[in-house]
Amino acid sequence: MAALLPGAATLGVLGGGQLGRMFVHAAQALGYRCVVLDPDAISPAGAVAEQHVKADYLDPVGLAQLARDCDAITTEFENVPAVALQTLAGMRVVAPAAAAVAVCQDRAVEKAHFEAAAAQSGVHPAPHAVITNDIELAAVDPALLPGILKTSRMGYDGKGQVRVSTAAELAQAWDGLKRVPCVLEQLLPLRAELSVLVARGADGQVVNFPVQQNLHRAGILAVTEVPARAVPAEVQQQAVAAARQVADALAYVGVLCIEFFWLDDGRLVVNEMAPRPHNSGHWTMNGASVSQFELQVRALAGLPLPQPRQHSAAVMLNLLGDLWFSDQGGPTPPAWDRVLALPGTHLHLYGKAEARPGRKMGHLNITAETPEAAHAVARQAAAILGLPTSF
Ligand code: ADP
Ligand code: MG
Repeated sequence: MAALLPGAATLGVLGGGQLGRMFVHAAQALGYRCVVLDPDAISPAGAVAEQHVKADYLDPVGLAQLARDCDAITTEFENVPAVALQTLAGMRVVAPAAAAVAVCQDRAVEKAHFEAAAAQSGVHPAPHAVITNDIELAAVDPALLPGILKTSRMGYDGKGQVRVSTAAELAQAWDGLKRVPCVLEQLLPLRAELSVLVARGADGQVVNFPVQQNLHRAGILAVTEVPARAVPAEVQQQAVAAARQVADALAYVGVLCIEFFWLDDGRLVVNEMAPRPHNSGHWTMNGASVSQFELQVRALAGLPLPQPRQHSAAVMLNLLGDLWFSDQGGPTPPAWDRVLALPGTHLHLYGKAEARPGRKMGHLNITAETPEAAHAVARQAAAILGLPTSF
């Protein structure tokens, strides 16, 4: 395919959330027009795109309009119905492909893909069992307990997950999850959580960002630090190689994020992946020569993919709606003026009108010359915001 040159093409995105908004910003910076398809009249991405198609993801009229008005289309969230991508693919360039997104949408299929890739990378998923019926439930290997029961589909930010210790608890938890298809994973002793972002072009070229170290609180990403200071170089190389290989094996086109666990015994385990830019890659907007969103735009448009260079140590703090509420009530905006007085702080808010506890409102990037300096400023910022400073 010939590249869609900047300034002369229109790019579309399925989904109007913050990832779509940052995609649109990156695309517009390169001179592309943007169209967002989202069912909500008001959305973070819809507010900044040149055009908003207000339609359901399965509405054939809306999809046809998107295809008519765009030269190429991507998605900003993985639970977009695969059939929507298939429908669009019949009319326009679509990346990533519906088949690759479908793998990411189902934990059981995703783990099978990881297991196949492990033959080459040596990085396996957690020991697990697929549970779709009573026979599989009864056949679960007790060695998988204690474990985490996860719904195969639609889980995110720790939702659709239950920790179980006994066979009886497992049966009860599966009932509680309405007996939908699930995966039971052995509970692993995590030393750290890591992720690697790769971008792959239609020509098979793959580039990657450095390993990101992630801290979750209550199942939601709270802090990302790059470089991952505590992680030995050989573990980082293994993670990068495994991530690149997973993308290759999917013939993936676009930006893909792969999450890993680094275990107490030093082993690396591959957890899950997202077929799009990722919260843990937001630091790239200020700490790298090219952001994950620009790479998403470039991959979609068929432009060259430069290997990203990290030019600053970076910490990212996720900003949830909880910050708008204090003991005195709320919502009131946090003291951004005090935060922005700190050196190397870059605030990104997603334009969501209403703050709600747990809602992703924005993120704060902190860049510095050294990881220690970035870390120290990040803790100062966290203290001002009333976030935990233990990271
Ligand atoms: P989600 O789609 O909600 O991000 P994950 O599979 O990434 O689902 O699980 C969310 C979090 O739960 C992980 O980031 C990790 O902290 C914890 N977790 C998940 N699986 C395991 C496991 N097998 N062992 C230990 N902790 C786990
Ligand atoms: Mg996860």
